[in-house]
This record gives sequence, structure tokens and C-alpha cells, in this order.
Amino acid sequence: MNKKVIIFSAPSGAGKSTVVGHLLKTFPFLEFSISATSRSPRGSEKDGVEYYFFSEQQFRDLIARDAFVEYEEVYPGSFYGTLRSEVERIWAKGHVILFDIDVKGGVNLKRIFGDNALSVFVRPPSVEELRRRLVGRGTDSPEAIEKRVAKAREELEYESRFDRVLENDRLEKTLAEAEEIVKTFTGQ
Ligand code: 5GP
Repeated sequence: MNKKVIIFSAPSGAGKSTVVGHLLKTFPFLEFSISATSRSPRGSEKDGVEYYFFSEQQFRDLIARDAFVEYEEVYPGSFYGTLRSEVERIWAKGHVILFDIDVKGGVNLKRIFGDNALSVFVRPPSVEELRRRLVGRGTDSPEAIEKRVAKAREELEYESRFDRVLENDRLEKTLAEAEEIVKTFTGQ
């Protein structure tokens, strides 16, 4: 079986989710890996769609049972991880797994999946532009935005550990480049 995975990582607000959403619509052989998390659902998020939602205790129990390929405490008290069962579910269908994951998780997954994985770092044009995008999105408080911007500065330093870098300056160009990256890696 063809066990390939494509990993998209980026500082929050770099436009990664838009790229991932576009690729999922364009290529039917790609399937989104639904992560598990201990944070609460936001807005219209549903269990089993954006995330599998667990309490912190349930999440810790899953860690103890070695249920995760990888997990991280991305924000204090908020755990995120990829369940082994999720990876097997997608590969069993013959699909290529698409990950939308923070930069540390991305580096970890690349190490785990090796040559079966392509890791892509989505880079925002600048930290200032990132701040504008987060403000424009309107889902975070000013304090939360400052926290995310500070985190983004740290996350930008991971770029060199990825196979490919996708600069998200002009969306149309970025999406076309993302399609090329997928086609080249999967040969489809
Ligand atoms: P949010 O709470 O905004 O949905 O996600 C917060 C961060 O957690 C994002 O950077 C997202 O990519 C990351 N994330 C989502 N799923 C996983 C996962 O399975 N593992 C890791 N390490 N990070 C994840």
C-alpha cells in the first residue's frame, strides 16, 4: 500500500488552513487528518470534523495508552495530537494523509514518516502582515493576538527543517504552487 503523508505547518494566521482547504477540494485522493485536542470546540466546530474533542484527563489517558503517533502541549493546558487510529483509517482507504499541524508537530511527523512524508512550511510575508491577518480574522482578543504573534516569531525559526517552503504573499500564486508540490510528490 502507498503510505504517503503531506504535512503543512505554519505560524498561526499564515494562511495554512486556506491552502489545505483548497488542496482537499482539488485532489480527491487527499484526506485531512483529524487531530485530537483537549481544548474546547470553538464556534461551529463539531466533534469528528475539525477535531476529535477530549477532556484533558481523557487526553492524558490516551497518551498513557500510547494511542498517539505524536502529540504536543501547543498552549499551556491545551494538548493536540494525531491518533494512530486516524492514520490507519486514512491509509486503509488508499488515501494520502494531509496534516495541518503546528511547526513542532510538523518536524516530529517528518522524522516519524521519513521519505514517505513531504513537509511544507507556509511562510507569511512578514510578522506585521501576520498581525494584520489575525486582526482581520476577528476571532482572537488583542492579548491573544499578541501571544500568537510572539509565538509566530519563534515558529519562523523552524523553516529550514522543512522539505519545502511556500511563501504566502499572493493567494492565487500560493495555491497554484501548492498544487504543483502535491502533484510532484504524489506523482498523481
Ligand atoms: P487551533 O486551536 O487554533 O485549532 O490550533 C492550534 C495549533 O495546534 C495549530 O498550530 C495547529 O496546527 C496545531 N495542531 C493541530 N493539530 C495538531 C496535532 O495533531 N499535533 C500538533 N502537534 N499540533 C496540532
